Amino acid sequence: MTEPEALHGLPPTPMPEPATPLGEPAFSPPGDTAYWHYRGESWHPPRPEIVSPMRVVRDDARGLAAWLASGQPSLGWALPDGRDGRSIPLERRFSPSARGLLRPARTRWRGPGILRLAEPGLPWSVWLFWTREGAFSGWYINLENPLRRNGSHLYSSDHILDLWVTADGHVQWKDEDELAAAVEQGRYTAEQAAIIRGHGEQARATIGTSWVFDPAWSRWQPDPTWGHLPLPDQASWELDLT
Ligand code: MG
Repeated sequence: MTEPEALHGLPPTPMPEPATPLGEPAFSPPGDTAYWHYRGESWHPPRPEIVSPMRVVRDDARGLAAWLASGQPSLGWALPDGRDGRSIPLERRFSPSARGLLRPARTRWRGPGILRLAEPGLPWSVWLFWTREGAFSGWYINLENPLRRNGSHLYSSDHILDLWVTADGHVQWKDEDELAAAVEQGRYTAEQAAIIRGHGEQARATIGTSWVFDPAWSRWQPDPTWGHLPLPDQASWELDLT
């Protein structure tokens, strides 16, 4: 059997079996919980991961739309003093020793809620951002392994490099310096970094053609009765940053 991730030339995300791609049943109804995980390609327990409890907005053969509410309790990681991992100097941020410093943390999604849209088998997801006042600000293209799921849990690994598309369609790369540092520090090979960059070019070519960029989504609003969701039953953390 072909691993869909292998088609994209990057290591797969460690996750429980059975793992199925987006776009295949069983689908979840709107309002259900989807736990969206990001873990490194070399993740193993008890290393920290990001877990965002989200509301399913639409789940069908086209892919997934899910909502992350403002203030939603989530799992992530931080330095032992509570500082963000991005406070580690870039020269060693992606080294194994720096990664080893990160502790599992309970945190919150800070800022306004976001809508994440993902198509089956594609190595990115597209996140829609709004201002506090509700004005649409743009699309964040997060390069990552194609999402796969096990029940209500979805899994991917972040590929560091991203694209930002403003509401009026201006495109810019984000975190190119971080991807270069990750290559220098052995997290990715130069070949893998080139593949990631290629995924960004592919994603860019879908702007205006894929359903995820349908302007109707930029006017979408969450069900006002949706409150915050609980963390998964097995959730644990060393730092509470909520
Ligand atoms: Mg990213």
